[in-house]
Amino acid sequence: MKIPFKCPVCDGQGLVNKPPYIAGDQPTWTDSSNSPYTCKACGGGGVLWADDGGCEWTEDYEGNWDTSCGNTFVLEADTPSENGMAYCCYCGKALVEVRYGRG
Ligand SMILES: [Zn+2]
Ligand SMILES: [Zn+2]
Repeated sequence: MKIPFKCPVCDGQGLVNKPPYIAGDQPTWTDSSNSPYTCKACGGGGVLWADDGGCEWTEDYEGNWDTSCGNTFVLEADTPSENGMAYCCYCGKALVEVRYGRG
């Protein structure tokens, strides 16, 4: 059964302020069109449909992300959603971020 999750990439807005192919830590890009851009992760709907439960990614004090499916992902900068990731790249469930020090 699929249940809705708020899209973490656009925070449910369906729009993002940088092109979806640009990494979260990249400050500039060559696309000449004006923002906002349609969120690619949710197709602009602001909602992800995923198997229930989701996959919790918990940030540790070093900035590594431990996933509830038993993996660890290391990002150079920023959060998974800021890097355009909406689904766990290991198990395919909706990615739920738990940032370090924010509960
Ligand atoms: Zn989205
Ligand atoms: Zn997972």
